[in-house]
Amino acid sequence: MQATILALNAGSSSIKFGIFDIGGGDLTTVARGMLDIDKSSRLVARAGDGSVLLELTVQGDGLPAGIAAMLDWIETEFGNRRIVACGHRIVHGGSTFFKPSLLTSARIDAIEALSPLAPLHQPRNIAPIRALSKLRPGLPQVGCFDTAFHRTMQPPASRYALPRPYEEKGIRRYGFHGLSYEFIAGKLHDEGRADRRTIVAHLGNGASLCAMRYSRSVDTTMGFSALDGLVMGTRCGTIDPGVLLYLLQHEGMRTEELERLLYRESGLLGVSGTSGDMRDLEASKAEHAREAVELFVFRAARETAALANTLGGLDCIVFTAGIGEHSAGVRRSICDRLGWLGVVIDKDANDRHEPVVSASTSTVEVCVVATDEESIIARHTLGVISGVSA
Ligand code: ADP
Repeated sequence: MQATILALNAGSSSIKFGIFDIGGGDLTTVARGMLDIDKSSRLVARAGDGSVLLELTVQGDGLPAGIAAMLDWIETEFGNRRIVACGHRIVHGGSTFFKPSLLTSARIDAIEALSPLAPLHQPRNIAPIRALSKLRPGLPQVGCFDTAFHRTMQPPASRYALPRPYEEKGIRRYGFHGLSYEFIAGKLHDEGRADRRTIVAHLGNGASLCAMRYSRSVDTTMGFSALDGLVMGTRCGTIDPGVLLYLLQHEGMRTEELERLLYRESGLLGVSGTSGDMRDLEASKAEHAREAVELFVFRAARETAALANTLGGLDCIVFTAGIGEHSAGVRRSICDRLGWLGVVIDKDANDRHEPVVSASTSTVEVCVVATDEESIIARHTLGVISGVSA
């Protein structure tokens, strides 16, 4: 029987998954897929070449039924496989979790207690862990934290200008999208380019930037929560805290309404009034859709310049995630605003989504890299169950 690791990356409406065979202490990706839970509980799996291995509408009750169908398919129809461990992306590790950890029931409770720090994400990350605990009580599960990569971020970058006791309570800048940044850092390291002053732009539904050098995070745009920084699909990004006080004190807004406004109704969706999806906005002729994209670009370029300052210069920009990998228009508009930093884009290479999209005259290399959070989750999971870390 082939020993296999399942990596789950639970997002707001779906769970991405990767299936990795273990052989000679190493991992081979054998399939990737998506479990869509919000719409019709559809399960899709594809081979490395993109060919469809499975397409199924899951019968039964939501997430547990979807996960049960996934396990069943992996261990029966998809060859003679045995899942030996499951790794999970967990958005917030708080001040407690800085490395991949075996998920004991006490640790699951501790992670759940961090939900107020990431109310949109943390419950979604925990749901599949709890479902698997019931379906496979003995299966080792490993949590991999999006905040962990940024543990190298030091004051002043990690600090808020609040009285010291608040920092001691854990109110500091944590940063997110760490598994994606870890993947990109590993790639830069393997290519002998880790010494460059690099800004990675992870632009998906959630979006942030990370300034890194020597494979370490030195600054990032998200802070205490995943609300901070860039304009996102439905999140506002950086906002004057005075606006929040005003809404609470003078608009009579309740905290749950404020939470919904900031996490679900703002960003591209709020400004366009129609969609939080970049593809829709780029296809739209509406003025407010254009303005939403313009604000997204403006803020991304402004924050890139701020992070270049933290790095003391800029050698490389890496675009990744849905928008970063696929929207030539957004990449070009951000780079055009950064011309004064020496960024020059090669329009044709950019339109073709080539790995390097900067012109030969550019003093900053601009790259496009497909991120792979699931492979990082699988690698950490193997490390934990092999006793390399725990
Ligand atoms: P998540 O943060 O949910 O993992 P993704 O990384 O999948 O998000 O990114 C989703 C975003 O990427 C959406 O705004 C989507 O419109 C955008 N996107 C995906 N493909 C394209 C494309 N071809 N052109 C422009 N935007 C795209």
